[in-house]
Amino acid sequence: MSEGSDKPQVEFRLGPDPNVTYPIRVQYCGNCSLPIEYCEYYPEYEKCKQWLERNLPNEFEKVKLVEDGSTESGGGEDEKKRQKRGGKGMLKTKKKEDVPKLVTVSRAPRGKKKSVTVVTGLSTFDIDLKVAAKFFGSKFACGSSVTGDDEIVIQGDVKDDLFDVIPEKWPQIDEDSIDDLGDQKR
Ligand SMILES: [Zn+2]
Repeated sequence: MSEGSDKPQVEFRLGPDPNVTYPIRVQYCGNCSLPIEYCEYYPEYEKCKQWLERNLPNEFEKVKLVEDGSTESGGGEDEKKRQKRGGKGMLKTKKKEDVPKLVTVSRAPRGKKKSVTVVTGLSTFDIDLKVAAKFFGSKFACGSSVTGDDEIVIQGDVKDDLFDVIPEKWPQIDEDSIDDLGDQKR
């Protein structure tokens, strides 16, 4: 409001607003099938959140941020404790030494025809998950994101390819260190 030096942006243009990406995409929830803004009104909101966490981690982060803010004032003692216990801080303090070095890959259904590939354990090899997710995304030309403490979800069925791709990218992981969990319900 104090930026009086800005040029007035009075510009009339026809056609699409340059500040908006068309078509405007509405993200629908795979659990309740409503646009995700309405999930919180759905009785199975917890399941919606689980779905979001898996499939639209970015949106899930937003939801979580909103929730963390609101429980601060409204939630009781127990609620606060629970949040702390399950918080991200706890996950980070986990000792790596205790974890066996093993990567697991599995396939999980997504919708009726598609499936996703879940990769866990990369961080037991000290691999940066964000870098790995990005690598998978460009390697397979599909969505790929970090979805948990040591979990990456790749949007597509690329499980079988990973047995070649992972050791090729990270020679410290040999094929025998990759465990095929097959098809998993998530
Ligand atoms: Zn939902």
